[in-house]
Amino acid sequence: MKSFDLKNLVRPNIWSLSPYSSARDEFSGSEGIFLDANENPYGSLNRYPDPHQRVLKTNLSKMKGIPVQNIFIGNGSDEVIDLIYRIFAEPGKDSVIICPPTYGMYEVSANINGVTAIKIPLTNDFQLNIDELFSRIDNDESVKIIFACSPNNPTGNVLNDLDTLLANFNGIVVIDEAYIDFCPDKSYLNKIFDHPNLIVMQTFSKAWALAGVRVGIAYAQKDIISLFDKTKPPYNVSKLNQEAAINALAQSDEFDKRRISILKQCSWLIENLINLPCIKKIYPSDANFLLVEVSDADLIYNQLITAKVIVRNRSSQIKNCLRITVGTPEENQALIDAFNKIQL
Ligand code: PMP
Repeated sequence: MKSFDLKNLVRPNIWSLSPYSSARDEFSGSEGIFLDANENPYGSLNRYPDPHQRVLKTNLSKMKGIPVQNIFIGNGSDEVIDLIYRIFAEPGKDSVIICPPTYGMYEVSANINGVTAIKIPLTNDFQLNIDELFSRIDNDESVKIIFACSPNNPTGNVLNDLDTLLANFNGIVVIDEAYIDFCPDKSYLNKIFDHPNLIVMQTFSKAWALAGVRVGIAYAQKDIISLFDKTKPPYNVSKLNQEAAINALAQSDEFDKRRISILKQCSWLIENLINLPCIKKIYPSDANFLLVEVSDADLIYNQLITAKVIVRNRSSQIKNCLRITVGTPEENQALIDAFNKIQL
């Protein structure tokens, strides 16, 4: 791979930043009488949470086989995305490559942070346009970050050329694996040790069923994790959030049962959608949702809403396409019933 220099990639103010040191950095809250953090002495949630999320990281480390020093916990992956911009991209100067159709927050977060989002659309089969990507990278020094979502939202497929990308780009490559638990063998998690510029994002929001809780994860080499740690707000993950994620990890049997049931239901949905007259195409999916091309997305979307079934209309990004999340068996049956009543 081309030479990699982390210092060159990091915003100078972040590189030289002296991080905030909190009272709970120095003492965890169990050593004695705590009169050091202006907390209220009464109640059960009166203490600040562990700023380093030690228990959660230790348990995650055991489950994933990744050392604690290579794990960062964010307030959802959305916080991780924002931190990546704030650490690596200088507002008004640097740029990011995103590959639409893909997860919308990469662009929104770039805009919030004053970072130029260069769009290099996926090919017709929703893969990276490697030639165009490389021609841009080779000719544009401002590109600091590339976001690659695999499995991609809203298309559902995994990206094939991530090794080529990693071998040829010496900026930060973020592989967003929000949906990876539905196809775990496609993960790039273990490749963080081969690539000092790789950040793999995962989340508790999808297969772990904790979207309401807001716990996202970044895995990377320890120098990058240290940058996340010094840039994040001191107590970015609440005690309740940490406990919910720890409890979920302790119930991995339930996790597996639900994950397998969602995958089965996904196949059931495909079988029941495929022959409906308004369905033109169901794209292959490695995630817990289906991208479906229909005869008239707006019309069908609105009729489904009238039947009280809400799907996501993605036709502004991909012509006549709806994105349908796999629900419970009852919810999926209701979706099929509503589809059967569609009037074209
Ligand atoms: N990445 C992708 C690809 C997503 O689809 C989503 C949410 N839909 C997120 C990240 C955000 O995840 P979180 O809930 O962890 O912020």
